[in-house]
Amino acid sequence: MSFSNHINAVAICRTPYKQKFGIPRQPGLVNAPGYIEFEPAFNHIDAVRGIEQYSHLWLLFCFHENLSQGWKTTVRPPRLGGNEKLGVFATRSTFRPNGIGQSVVKLHGVVQRHGKVCLKISGMDLLDGTPIIDIKPYIPFSDAIADAKGGIAQDAPILIPVKYTAQAEEKIAQYQLQEHYQGLAELINGVLSQDPRPAYKKAKDDPKLYQVALYDLDIFWHMTDNAIEVLDLKPTT
Ligand code: SAM
Repeated sequence: MSFSNHINAVAICRTPYKQKFGIPRQPGLVNAPGYIEFEPAFNHIDAVRGIEQYSHLWLLFCFHENLSQGWKTTVRPPRLGGNEKLGVFATRSTFRPNGIGQSVVKLHGVVQRHGKVCLKISGMDLLDGTPIIDIKPYIPFSDAIADAKGGIAQDAPILIPVKYTAQAEEKIAQYQLQEHYQGLAELINGVLSQDPRPAYKKAKDDPKLYQVALYDLDIFWHMTDNAIEVLDLKPTT
């Protein structure tokens, strides 16, 4: 059945995540701060009246960076080491029909930012600039199911230790003096302790130099003795 309801973004999500690599694979894993900026047609304070009584929101959004690549019937979830295939509807693959994602995020309040009504949020797993197609309150009595089975994703991912060179530590401390970068150390630690590398890299010695982009910074790191070591931070060029 086809239908003609045309879906537009109601808002754009602003996050520190400037590239897909490094974004946590689910919401709530990293305490990253972000904003939902309403699009002009929805930029009315009345449209969010009453929303502050909820602690969490469901975001429905579009995996806009992957739309051009279409979808696949089966996918190889990173949880299974990339070795086993599951059906697209049995996973949270980003390559799916209609390209729609959903995430629960924490709501911190309604604010005005750059002349726009915004929601201050945290814990999202979204790329900066992701189009939000709907927002709904999270309702614990109905949405939280205590005895739900989590399939291949029953438990949160195992975290790995993150250490820092003296140079990296010093730069993080300097950046954090600026309001814009407050919480940078926690963000870097949260992102890297998830070990963002693809599954096939985790199974063997890995001498590669990696980079993740957070805010307007490139964070350089590598693997050493079963830990991640942050080597340096540089402004993104
Ligand atoms: N919680 C959501 C869900 O279940 O629909 C998303 C899960 S999905 C596995 C999370 C990943 O989506 C992130 O790690 C990131 O790589 C990717 N991602 C986030 N925003 C995206 C976007 N706008 N376009 C494409 N991929 C995106």
